[in-house]
Order: sequence, then structure tokens, then C-alpha cells
Amino acid sequence: MPDLLSRRIVVALCLFAVLVVVGSPPQARAAAPPTMAPFLDDVLASVDTYWHQTLAAAGRPAPSVRHAWVVPGGRLDTACGVQAGDGAAFYCAADDTIYVGQVFARALYEGVLGGLPGQQAGFGRAAGDFAVAYVVAHEYAHNVQQESGILAGRTRALPVELNADCLAGTWARWAYGQGRLDRGDVQEALDAALAVGDFDFLSAQHHGTPSERRDALLTGLRSGSPRACNPYLSL
Ligand SMILES: [Zn+2]
Repeated sequence: MPDLLSRRIVVALCLFAVLVVVGSPPQARAAAPPTMAPFLDDVLASVDTYWHQTLAAAGRPAPSVRHAWVVPGGRLDTACGVQAGDGAAFYCAADDTIYVGQVFARALYEGVLGGLPGQQAGFGRAAGDFAVAYVVAHEYAHNVQQESGILAGRTRALPVELNADCLAGTWARWAYGQGRLDRGDVQEALDAALAVGDFDFLSAQHHGTPSERRDALLTGLRSGSPRACNPYLSL
């Protein structure tokens, strides 16, 4: 069913190649805010400002995207043929919306997200506020890709996923310049990128190995230039 497969790849661009389990493992690290929505709003506003400035400087149209921070226990219908629930972390091109479950965001913030393929294999650790920020910036990058027309006709996730990691890194570099990053934030993002990497090489949904995802994020962080992310699109 190649049509269905490619539709899934292009339409619901998520952070992982596999479903993650929200909740369970013990070792919590940082206490998340009482509700995640204001934090997610804050990150989104920063990412949005960055892309408005960056695209305007390149003479390109302003970006536009909707968002839905799914409330705990909530289930939202999307135009991508999947519902967004507690574990949601994806961009749906068909309704131009970033979906993030507040339960997911809290679990990631607190370092208790289970089922991450890279982390299960011993790579990285997904925890902290900047791990959550990386997710929002990654999903926003899929919106930028959609508006740039580079998602059309793609059948493999890898090129656009690594490109999105790299573009998230360019935002992180900008946020650093704005004085928005705390000590340890860059490490949190890199550890999260390692944790979400996977080894599902034979799947069209393969998003990149832990080291590939970490390196892509690092490329964006070091360069601060979306152009430096273009080579991933040719993989
Ligand atoms: Zn993605």
C-alpha cells in the first residue's frame, strides 16, 4: 500500500518512528509546571518569532501554523486520519496543526517518558524543559517544510526528519543568542535527539539513528543557518 504509506509519512510528521508510552518509569528529575500549556505557548512564540524573522530576511512569506496542546485525557480528531491524544507529538499538514499532548510534554519534561527507541538502546536521555522545546521546534520545522513545498511526493521520512532536527537546531542557536537558554539546555536537546533516534532502517518511517539525529541538531546549532540543513533533504 505505497499510497497509504507515503500519505502517512507526508501527512503526520511526528518525532518518532514508533509509538511512545507516556507515563510509568520512576526516576523523575525536574518538576514540570502545574500546567504545560503556558510553557508550550512560550516556546512556540519563540520559535514562531525566529521563523518570521528568518523567512522575512530571506524574502519569503511569513509562516503560519495552528497548534493544539491536547489536555490530559483528551482526544482530538485531526485531518490526518489519526487522533491526537496524551502521547501526541506531531505536525499534521492536512490541517496545518502542531499537536502535542500535555501528558507527553510533562512526562518528557520530567524525564519519565518510556518507549523511546534510542534511549531503550542506551543512547541519550529525554528529560528537561529544553527537550520539550526541541520537540516543538522540530514539529514547527515540519510546518516550514510544508510551506516550502519540500514535503510533496516524499516516500521516506529520513530526509525531512533530519532536516527538521537541523532546523530545530538553528532556532536553538537563535534562542541562545536571545539569552533564552539555561546552562545544560543544549545538552538536554542533544540527549533528547539521541533518545528518539531509532534503528528501524528498513522502514520508510525510519527517522535516523541516535547519532544521526544528534548530529543533525548539532549542525543547526553550530551553523545557525537553515541553508546548512539542506543536504539532509537529499539523503
Ligand atoms: Zn518529525
